[in-house]
Amino acid sequence: MKKTGEAEEYFSVFVEEKPTRKGKLQGITFSFKDNICVKGTETKASSKILEGYTPLFDATVVERIRGEGGEIVGKTIQDEFGFGSFNTNTGLGIKPPRNPVDKKRVTGGSSGGSAAAVKILDKHVSIAESTGGSIANPAAFCGVIGFTPTYGLVSRYGLIDYANSLDKIGVMSRKVKDAAITLSVIAGSDGKDMTCTAEKEVYEDYLGKNVKGMTIGIPKEYVKDLDPEVEKGFVETKKMLESKGVKFKEVSLKKNAEYSIPAYYIIAMCEASTNLAKYSGLRYGYTEEMKGEHYDKFFSRVRGNAFGEEAKRRILLGTFARTTGYRDAYYDKALRVRTLLIEEYKEAFKECDALMHPTMPILPPTFEEAGKLTPLQNYMLDLLTVGANLAGLPHISVPAKNTKLPVGVMLTANHFEEGKLITLGENIE
Ligand code: GLN
Repeated sequence: MKKTGEAEEYFSVFVEEKPTRKGKLQGITFSFKDNICVKGTETKASSKILEGYTPLFDATVVERIRGEGGEIVGKTIQDEFGFGSFNTNTGLGIKPPRNPVDKKRVTGGSSGGSAAAVKILDKHVSIAESTGGSIANPAAFCGVIGFTPTYGLVSRYGLIDYANSLDKIGVMSRKVKDAAITLSVIAGSDGKDMTCTAEKEVYEDYLGKNVKGMTIGIPKEYVKDLDPEVEKGFVETKKMLESKGVKFKEVSLKKNAEYSIPAYYIIAMCEASTNLAKYSGLRYGYTEEMKGEHYDKFFSRVRGNAFGEEAKRRILLGTFARTTGYRDAYYDKALRVRTLLIEEYKEAFKECDALMHPTMPILPPTFEEAGKLTPLQNYMLDLLTVGANLAGLPHISVPAKNTKLPVGVMLTANHFEEGKLITLGENIE
Protein backbone atom coordinates (compact mmCIF):
# COMPACT_ATOMS: atom_id res chain seq x y z
CA MET A 1 0.00 0.00 0.00
CA LYS A 2 1.17 3.51 -0.75
CA LYS A 3 1.85 5.80 2.19
CA THR A 4 -1.22 7.94 1.83
CA GLY A 5 -3.07 10.61 3.72
CA GLU A 6 -5.09 9.76 6.74
CA ALA A 7 -3.83 6.21 7.24
CA GLU A 8 -0.22 7.29 7.63
CA GLU A 9 -0.22 8.05 11.35
CA TYR A 10 -1.59 4.61 12.18
CA PHE A 11 1.12 2.61 10.43
CA SER A 12 4.75 2.05 11.37
CA VAL A 13 5.56 0.47 8.01
CA PHE A 14 3.69 0.06 4.76
CA VAL A 15 4.10 -3.10 2.73
CA GLU A 16 3.47 -3.46 -0.97
CA GLU A 17 2.77 -7.06 -1.65
CA LYS A 18 0.23 -8.64 -3.96
CA PRO A 19 -1.34 -11.89 -2.82
CA THR A 20 0.00 -14.92 -4.63
CA ARG A 21 -2.72 -17.29 -3.44
CA LYS A 22 -6.46 -17.41 -3.91
CA GLY A 23 -8.72 -18.15 -0.97
CA LYS A 24 -11.27 -17.08 1.62
CA LEU A 25 -9.58 -13.76 2.33
CA GLN A 26 -9.26 -12.52 -1.22
CA GLY A 27 -10.24 -8.87 -1.58
CA ILE A 28 -9.53 -8.01 2.07
CA THR A 29 -6.45 -6.01 3.03
CA PHE A 30 -4.69 -6.84 6.31
CA SER A 31 -2.48 -4.98 8.71
CA PHE A 32 -0.66 -6.48 11.69
CA LYS A 33 0.02 -4.90 15.03
CA ASP A 34 3.71 -4.05 15.13
CA ASN A 35 4.44 -6.86 17.64
CA ILE A 36 3.64 -9.55 15.06
CA CYS A 37 6.58 -10.70 12.96
CA VAL A 38 6.33 -10.24 9.20
CA LYS A 39 9.28 -11.66 7.29
CA GLY A 40 11.51 -9.00 5.78
CA THR A 41 9.52 -6.13 7.33
CA GLU A 42 10.77 -4.11 10.28
CA THR A 43 8.92 -5.36 13.37
CA LYS A 44 9.58 -3.41 16.54
CA ALA A 45 6.47 -3.44 18.76
CA SER A 46 6.67 0.37 18.53
CA SER A 47 9.88 0.37 20.57
CA LYS A 48 13.13 2.14 19.82
CA ILE A 49 15.01 -0.84 21.27
CA LEU A 50 13.91 -2.98 18.34
CA GLU A 51 14.66 -0.36 15.69
CA GLY A 52 15.88 -2.08 12.55
CA TYR A 53 14.90 -5.57 13.65
CA THR A 54 13.70 -7.43 10.57
CA PRO A 55 12.43 -10.96 11.21
CA LEU A 56 13.62 -13.81 9.04
CA PHE A 57 10.29 -15.59 9.40
CA ASP A 58 6.55 -14.99 9.42
CA ALA A 59 4.34 -15.37 12.46
CA THR A 60 1.92 -18.28 12.03
CA VAL A 61 -1.02 -15.86 11.70
CA VAL A 62 0.76 -14.03 8.87
CA GLU A 63 1.48 -17.29 7.07
CA ARG A 64 -2.14 -18.42 7.40
CA ILE A 65 -3.54 -15.13 6.13
CA ARG A 66 -1.21 -15.16 3.14
CA GLY A 67 -2.24 -18.73 2.47
CA GLU A 68 -5.87 -17.66 2.07
CA GLY A 69 -5.19 -14.77 -0.29
CA GLY A 70 -5.18 -11.89 2.22
CA GLU A 71 -3.27 -8.81 1.01
CA ILE A 72 -0.79 -7.50 3.57
CA VAL A 73 -0.51 -3.70 3.62
CA GLY A 74 1.49 -2.87 6.73
CA LYS A 75 2.22 -2.85 10.45
CA THR A 76 0.27 -0.73 12.91
CA ILE A 77 1.41 1.57 15.72
CA GLN A 78 0.87 0.38 19.29
CA ASP A 79 1.86 1.21 22.84
CA GLU A 80 5.48 0.10 23.28
CA PHE A 81 5.38 -3.71 23.70
CA GLY A 82 1.65 -3.37 24.53
CA PHE A 83 2.19 -1.35 27.71
CA GLY A 84 -0.77 0.98 27.85
CA SER A 85 -4.45 1.68 27.44
CA PHE A 86 -4.44 4.82 25.30
CA ASN A 87 -1.63 4.35 22.78
CA THR A 88 0.07 7.35 24.30
CA ASN A 89 2.96 5.11 25.49
CA THR A 90 4.42 4.69 22.02
CA GLY A 91 8.19 4.18 22.08
CA LEU A 92 10.74 6.98 21.85
CA GLY A 93 10.41 8.97 18.63
CA ILE A 94 7.02 7.45 17.71
CA LYS A 95 4.01 9.75 17.67
CA PRO A 96 0.84 8.57 19.42
CA PRO A 97 -1.94 8.17 16.86
CA ARG A 98 -5.10 10.31 17.07
CA ASN A 99 -8.62 8.91 17.20
CA PRO A 100 -10.08 9.11 13.68
CA VAL A 101 -13.49 10.01 15.12
CA ASP A 102 -12.12 13.05 16.98
CA LYS A 103 -8.46 13.93 16.57
CA LYS A 104 -8.23 15.54 20.01
CA ARG A 105 -8.88 12.15 21.56
CA VAL A 106 -6.78 9.02 21.96
CA THR A 107 -7.38 5.85 19.96
CA GLY A 108 -7.21 3.62 23.02
CA GLY A 109 -4.56 0.97 23.32
CA SER A 110 -2.49 -0.82 23.08
CA SER A 111 -3.71 -1.81 19.59
CA GLY A 112 -4.73 1.76 18.72
CA GLY A 113 -3.17 1.83 15.25
CA SER A 114 -5.09 -1.32 14.32
CA ALA A 115 -8.43 0.04 15.55
CA ALA A 116 -7.97 3.35 13.73
CA ALA A 117 -6.82 1.68 10.49
CA VAL A 118 -9.96 -0.46 10.51
CA LYS A 119 -12.10 2.61 11.16
CA ILE A 120 -10.79 4.53 8.16
CA LEU A 121 -9.86 1.90 5.55
CA ASP A 122 -12.50 0.03 3.55
CA LYS A 123 -12.39 -3.77 3.37
CA HIS A 124 -9.63 -3.82 5.91
CA VAL A 125 -9.00 -6.17 8.83
CA SER A 126 -6.25 -5.76 11.39
CA ILE A 127 -4.65 -8.56 13.37
CA ALA A 128 -4.00 -7.27 16.87
CA GLU A 129 -3.05 -8.64 20.28
CA SER A 130 -4.46 -8.41 23.78
CA THR A 131 -2.76 -9.09 27.08
CA GLY A 132 -5.22 -7.31 29.36
CA GLY A 133 -7.69 -5.65 27.01
CA SER A 134 -5.69 -4.19 24.16
CA ILE A 135 -8.10 -5.35 21.49
CA ALA A 136 -11.40 -4.55 23.21
CA ASN A 137 -10.32 -1.15 24.52
CA PRO A 138 -9.26 0.53 21.23
CA ALA A 139 -12.17 -1.18 19.44
CA ALA A 140 -14.51 0.55 21.90
CA PHE A 141 -12.79 3.93 21.59
CA CYS A 142 -12.67 3.89 17.77
CA GLY A 143 -16.08 2.31 17.18
CA VAL A 144 -15.07 -0.99 15.57
CA ILE A 145 -15.30 -4.71 16.38
CA GLY A 146 -12.56 -6.19 18.57
CA PHE A 147 -12.49 -9.96 18.92
CA THR A 148 -10.19 -11.62 21.46
CA PRO A 149 -10.28 -15.44 21.31
CA THR A 150 -9.75 -17.96 24.09
CA TYR A 151 -6.11 -18.13 25.25
CA GLY A 152 -4.44 -20.82 23.16
CA LEU A 153 -6.87 -20.83 20.24
CA VAL A 154 -4.60 -18.76 18.00
CA SER A 155 -0.89 -19.47 17.73
CA ARG A 156 1.46 -16.94 19.30
CA TYR A 157 4.40 -18.11 17.21
CA GLY A 158 6.03 -14.96 15.88
CA LEU A 159 4.42 -12.66 18.43
CA ILE A 160 6.80 -10.45 20.38
CA ASP A 161 5.87 -11.46 23.93
CA TYR A 162 4.50 -9.06 26.48
CA ALA A 163 3.29 -11.60 29.09
CA ASN A 164 3.22 -15.16 27.80
CA SER A 165 0.48 -16.51 30.04
CA LEU A 166 -1.84 -13.69 28.97
CA ASP A 167 -1.07 -12.78 25.35
CA LYS A 168 -3.66 -13.57 22.71
CA ILE A 169 -3.73 -12.67 19.03
CA GLY A 170 -7.16 -11.53 17.80
CA VAL A 171 -9.04 -9.67 15.11
CA MET A 172 -10.26 -6.11 14.58
CA SER A 173 -12.79 -5.42 11.84
CA ARG A 174 -15.80 -3.32 10.94
CA LYS A 175 -18.13 -6.29 10.64
CA VAL A 176 -18.52 -9.31 12.90
CA LYS A 177 -18.66 -11.39 9.74
CA ASP A 178 -15.09 -10.44 8.76
CA ALA A 179 -13.89 -11.27 12.26
CA ALA A 180 -15.54 -14.70 12.01
CA ILE A 181 -14.02 -15.46 8.60
CA THR A 182 -10.57 -14.31 9.69
CA LEU A 183 -10.74 -16.24 12.95
CA SER A 184 -11.54 -19.43 11.02
CA VAL A 185 -8.32 -18.88 9.08
CA ILE A 186 -5.95 -18.02 11.92
CA ALA A 187 -7.27 -20.28 14.72
CA GLY A 188 -6.26 -23.85 15.44
CA SER A 189 -3.35 -25.87 16.69
CA ASP A 190 0.19 -25.07 15.64
CA GLY A 191 3.23 -27.22 16.19
CA LYS A 192 5.28 -24.07 16.71
CA ASP A 193 3.33 -22.95 19.81
CA MET A 194 2.86 -25.58 22.49
CA THR A 195 0.14 -23.57 24.22
CA CYS A 196 -1.89 -23.64 21.00
CA THR A 197 -3.40 -27.08 20.72
CA ALA A 198 -7.07 -26.22 20.32
CA GLU A 199 -9.05 -27.47 17.36
CA LYS A 200 -10.80 -24.67 15.57
CA GLU A 201 -14.34 -24.48 14.27
CA VAL A 202 -15.90 -22.89 11.21
CA TYR A 203 -16.91 -19.65 12.89
CA GLU A 204 -19.04 -18.46 9.96
CA ASP A 205 -21.52 -21.16 10.99
CA TYR A 206 -22.53 -18.90 13.89
CA LEU A 207 -23.53 -16.02 11.61
CA GLY A 208 -27.15 -15.35 10.70
CA LYS A 209 -28.50 -17.05 13.83
CA ASN A 210 -31.00 -15.57 16.22
CA VAL A 211 -30.46 -14.96 19.90
CA LYS A 212 -33.92 -15.76 21.18
CA GLY A 213 -33.74 -17.69 24.43
CA MET A 214 -30.13 -16.84 25.21
CA THR A 215 -29.37 -15.65 28.72
CA ILE A 216 -26.87 -12.89 29.40
CA GLY A 217 -25.51 -12.10 32.82
CA ILE A 218 -24.74 -8.54 33.81
CA PRO A 219 -22.08 -8.39 36.52
CA LYS A 220 -23.49 -5.83 38.90
CA GLU A 221 -20.06 -4.55 39.94
CA TYR A 222 -19.24 -3.80 36.27
CA VAL A 223 -22.05 -1.36 35.56
CA LYS A 224 -21.22 1.12 38.30
CA ASP A 225 -19.46 4.49 38.05
CA LEU A 226 -19.87 4.77 34.30
CA ASP A 227 -19.73 7.89 32.19
CA PRO A 228 -23.43 8.78 31.50
CA GLU A 229 -22.95 8.39 27.73
CA VAL A 230 -21.39 4.94 28.24
CA GLU A 231 -24.30 3.97 30.44
CA LYS A 232 -26.78 5.20 27.85
CA GLY A 233 -25.15 3.19 25.04
CA PHE A 234 -25.09 0.10 27.23
CA VAL A 235 -28.74 0.40 28.26
CA GLU A 236 -29.89 0.97 24.67
CA THR A 237 -27.95 -2.06 23.46
CA LYS A 238 -29.43 -4.17 26.24
CA LYS A 239 -32.97 -3.04 25.31
CA MET A 240 -32.34 -3.92 21.70
CA LEU A 241 -31.22 -7.44 22.63
CA GLU A 242 -34.23 -7.80 24.94
CA SER A 243 -36.49 -6.98 22.02
CA LYS A 244 -34.86 -9.90 20.17
CA GLY A 245 -35.71 -12.32 22.97
CA VAL A 246 -32.51 -12.31 25.06
CA LYS A 247 -33.06 -12.73 28.79
CA PHE A 248 -30.88 -10.77 31.20
CA LYS A 249 -30.00 -11.56 34.77
CA GLU A 250 -27.80 -9.98 37.38
CA VAL A 251 -24.66 -11.87 38.37
CA SER A 252 -21.72 -10.99 40.60
CA LEU A 253 -18.02 -10.78 39.79
CA LYS A 254 -17.17 -9.43 43.20
CA LYS A 255 -13.70 -10.95 43.47
CA ASN A 256 -12.78 -9.89 39.96
CA ALA A 257 -13.96 -6.36 40.63
CA GLU A 258 -11.71 -6.17 43.64
CA TYR A 259 -8.64 -8.19 42.71
CA SER A 260 -8.32 -8.46 38.93
CA ILE A 261 -6.38 -5.20 38.54
CA PRO A 262 -3.69 -5.93 41.15
CA ALA A 263 -3.38 -9.60 40.10
CA TYR A 264 -3.18 -8.65 36.43
CA TYR A 265 -0.60 -5.91 36.79
CA ILE A 266 1.64 -8.04 39.01
CA ILE A 267 1.56 -11.03 36.66
CA ALA A 268 1.82 -8.92 33.50
CA MET A 269 4.75 -6.87 34.80
CA CYS A 270 6.63 -9.89 36.15
CA GLU A 271 6.38 -11.69 32.84
CA ALA A 272 7.15 -8.52 30.87
CA SER A 273 10.28 -7.79 32.85
CA THR A 274 11.76 -11.21 32.05
CA ASN A 275 10.71 -10.97 28.42
CA LEU A 276 12.45 -7.63 28.00
CA ALA A 277 15.70 -8.90 29.49
CA LYS A 278 16.86 -10.12 26.09
CA TYR A 279 16.96 -6.61 24.62
CA SER A 280 20.47 -5.68 25.51
CA GLY A 281 21.87 -4.08 22.39
CA LEU A 282 23.59 -7.29 21.34
CA ARG A 283 21.14 -9.48 19.52
CA TYR A 284 18.17 -7.51 18.23
CA GLY A 285 17.54 -4.06 16.87
CA TYR A 286 19.01 -0.93 18.44
CA THR A 287 22.58 -0.84 19.60
CA GLU A 288 25.36 1.62 20.40
CA GLU A 289 29.12 1.55 20.17
CA MET A 290 30.79 -0.51 22.88
CA LYS A 291 33.42 1.75 24.42
CA GLY A 292 35.71 -0.84 25.99
CA GLU A 293 33.42 -0.82 29.02
CA HIS A 294 32.03 -3.65 31.13
CA TYR A 295 29.06 -5.39 29.53
CA ASP A 296 26.73 -4.39 32.41
CA LYS A 297 27.51 -0.76 31.76
CA PHE A 298 27.00 -1.12 28.02
CA PHE A 299 23.63 -2.77 28.22
CA SER A 300 22.38 -0.43 30.93
CA ARG A 301 23.25 2.49 28.69
CA VAL A 302 21.56 0.95 25.64
CA ARG A 303 18.44 0.09 27.65
CA GLY A 304 18.44 3.48 29.31
CA ASN A 305 18.51 5.21 25.93
CA ALA A 306 16.04 3.02 24.07
CA PHE A 307 13.20 2.01 26.39
CA GLY A 308 10.38 4.46 26.98
CA GLU A 309 9.22 5.57 30.42
CA GLU A 310 6.40 3.05 30.86
CA ALA A 311 8.61 0.15 29.77
CA LYS A 312 11.17 1.19 32.37
CA ARG A 313 8.49 1.45 35.05
CA ARG A 314 7.34 -2.09 34.27
CA ILE A 315 10.85 -3.51 34.21
CA LEU A 316 11.47 -2.05 37.67
CA LEU A 317 8.16 -3.12 39.21
CA GLY A 318 8.15 -6.55 37.55
CA THR A 319 11.73 -7.29 38.57
CA PHE A 320 11.01 -6.21 42.14
CA ALA A 321 7.89 -8.38 42.42
CA ARG A 322 9.71 -11.57 41.45
CA THR A 323 12.91 -11.02 43.43
CA THR A 324 13.75 -13.68 46.02
CA GLY A 325 11.92 -12.81 49.18
CA TYR A 326 9.17 -10.90 47.40
CA ARG A 327 8.18 -13.51 44.87
CA ASP A 328 5.91 -15.40 47.32
CA ALA A 329 4.29 -12.21 48.52
CA TYR A 330 3.53 -10.85 45.04
CA TYR A 331 3.94 -13.06 42.01
CA ASP A 332 2.97 -16.41 43.55
CA LYS A 333 0.09 -14.85 45.42
CA ALA A 334 -1.18 -13.16 42.27
CA LEU A 335 -1.17 -16.54 40.51
CA ARG A 336 -3.26 -18.05 43.30
CA VAL A 337 -5.68 -15.12 43.13
CA ARG A 338 -5.91 -15.65 39.38
CA THR A 339 -7.27 -19.17 39.96
CA LEU A 340 -9.98 -17.80 42.26
CA LEU A 341 -10.93 -15.23 39.64
CA ILE A 342 -11.23 -17.89 36.94
CA GLU A 343 -13.45 -19.96 39.24
CA GLU A 344 -15.71 -16.97 39.78
CA TYR A 345 -16.23 -16.60 36.02
CA LYS A 346 -16.90 -20.35 35.71
CA GLU A 347 -19.57 -20.05 38.39
CA ALA A 348 -21.24 -17.21 36.48
CA PHE A 349 -21.31 -19.25 33.28
CA LYS A 350 -23.42 -21.90 35.02
CA GLU A 351 -26.26 -19.40 34.90
CA CYS A 352 -25.80 -17.72 31.52
CA ASP A 353 -24.48 -18.00 27.98
CA ALA A 354 -22.40 -14.85 28.13
CA LEU A 355 -21.67 -11.83 30.29
CA MET A 356 -22.20 -8.27 29.14
CA HIS A 357 -20.95 -4.89 30.41
CA PRO A 358 -19.39 -1.79 28.87
CA THR A 359 -15.85 -2.31 27.54
CA MET A 360 -14.49 0.90 29.05
CA PRO A 361 -16.10 2.92 31.85
CA ILE A 362 -15.23 6.21 30.12
CA LEU A 363 -15.44 7.82 26.68
CA PRO A 364 -12.19 8.07 24.72
CA PRO A 365 -10.27 10.73 26.68
CA THR A 366 -8.59 13.71 25.06
CA PHE A 367 -4.80 13.66 25.03
CA GLU A 368 -4.89 16.31 27.71
CA GLU A 369 -7.14 14.26 29.99
CA ALA A 370 -5.10 11.09 29.45
CA GLY A 371 -1.89 12.99 30.18
CA LYS A 372 -3.12 14.08 33.60
CA LEU A 373 -3.68 10.54 34.91
CA THR A 374 -1.19 8.98 37.30
CA PRO A 375 0.02 5.49 36.33
CA LEU A 376 -2.27 3.97 38.96
CA GLN A 377 -5.35 5.89 37.75
CA ASN A 378 -4.46 4.77 34.27
CA TYR A 379 -4.24 1.08 35.29
CA MET A 380 -7.55 1.29 37.17
CA LEU A 381 -9.36 2.20 33.94
CA ASP A 382 -8.70 -1.35 32.69
CA LEU A 383 -11.04 -2.71 35.37
CA LEU A 384 -13.66 -4.01 32.95
CA THR A 385 -11.29 -5.75 30.54
CA VAL A 386 -8.56 -7.41 32.63
CA GLY A 387 -10.75 -10.10 34.28
CA ALA A 388 -11.67 -11.87 31.05
CA ASN A 389 -8.04 -11.62 29.94
CA LEU A 390 -6.65 -13.08 33.16
CA ALA A 391 -9.12 -15.94 32.82
CA GLY A 392 -8.20 -16.48 29.16
CA LEU A 393 -11.86 -16.11 28.17
CA PRO A 394 -13.00 -15.11 24.68
CA HIS A 395 -14.59 -11.68 24.43
CA ILE A 396 -15.85 -9.26 21.82
CA SER A 397 -16.31 -5.49 21.92
CA VAL A 398 -19.10 -4.24 19.70
CA PRO A 399 -20.08 -0.57 19.16
CA ALA A 400 -23.04 0.36 21.37
CA LYS A 401 -26.25 1.81 20.00
CA ASN A 402 -27.01 5.53 19.70
CA THR A 403 -24.03 7.30 21.23
CA LYS A 404 -22.35 10.52 20.11
CA LEU A 405 -18.81 9.27 20.65
CA PRO A 406 -17.87 5.60 20.27
CA VAL A 407 -18.82 3.35 23.20
CA GLY A 408 -18.11 -0.37 23.32
CA VAL A 409 -20.25 -3.15 24.75
CA MET A 410 -18.19 -6.17 25.78
CA LEU A 411 -19.50 -9.72 25.74
CA THR A 412 -17.53 -12.54 27.36
CA ALA A 413 -18.20 -16.26 26.92
CA ASN A 414 -16.84 -19.43 28.45
CA HIS A 415 -13.61 -20.93 27.05
CA PHE A 416 -13.86 -21.92 23.39
CA GLU A 417 -17.38 -20.54 23.04
CA GLU A 418 -16.41 -17.92 20.47
CA GLY A 419 -19.45 -19.01 18.42
CA LYS A 420 -21.87 -17.48 20.92
CA LEU A 421 -20.01 -14.19 20.73
CA ILE A 422 -20.25 -14.15 16.96
CA THR A 423 -24.00 -14.73 17.11
CA LEU A 424 -24.54 -12.12 19.82
CA GLY A 425 -22.16 -9.61 18.25
CA GLU A 426 -23.82 -9.88 14.86
CA ASN A 427 -27.24 -9.35 16.43
CA ILE A 428 -26.07 -6.17 18.12
CA GLU A 429 -24.52 -4.98 14.88
N1 GLN B 1 -3.65 -1.75 29.42
C1 GLN B 1 -3.15 -3.03 29.76
C2 GLN B 1 -1.67 -2.94 30.07
O1 GLN B 1 -1.14 -1.90 29.98
C3 GLN B 1 -3.40 -4.02 28.66
C4 GLN B 1 -2.45 -3.95 27.52
C5 GLN B 1 -2.54 -5.09 26.55
O2 GLN B 1 -3.53 -5.82 26.52
N2 GLN B 1 -1.49 -5.27 25.76
O3 GLN B 1 -1.05 -3.89 30.41
